[in-house]
Amino acid sequence: MIDCIFCKIIQKQKPADFIFEDEHITVFKDIHPKAPIHLLIIPKTHIKSLAEVSEKEAHLIAHMLLVMPSLAIRQGLKGFRTIINTGKDGGQVIDHLHFHLLGGDHLSSM
Ligand code: AMP
Ligand code: ZN
Repeated sequence: MIDCIFCKIIQKQKPADFIFEDEHITVFKDIHPKAPIHLLIIPKTHIKSLAEVSEKEAHLIAHMLLVMPSLAIRQGLKGFRTIINTGKDGGQVIDHLHFHLLGGDHLSSM
């Protein structure tokens, strides 16, 4: 059994501000938002990071991305930024794959 905060959130053993859920993914607000709207999109299965994803998860990854525009629209956003931190050197702190959705400000170009 992996001791994973995001798995606990999925299983409702830890609280979160839930936004959306289906068979494959859970979406909730980031506890330390870096923009007025900051959501986390996570798979219900424990995958450590993007570096551990294989071809058999291609549909899941596509689903996580394809849900974002409708989530953003429902949050009233006209545009948004997607960030995927991978590995310690990539700034990943929680070892359960998650896509950040940020918006609500005019975000600067990168
Ligand atoms: P990362 O640096 O990509 O691993 O991002 C992890 C994100 O998870 C950070 O933005 C944290 O603020 C967020 N986070 C950590 N714990 C929680 C939690 N219990 N509920 C919601 N967001 C969390
Ligand atoms: Zn997990």
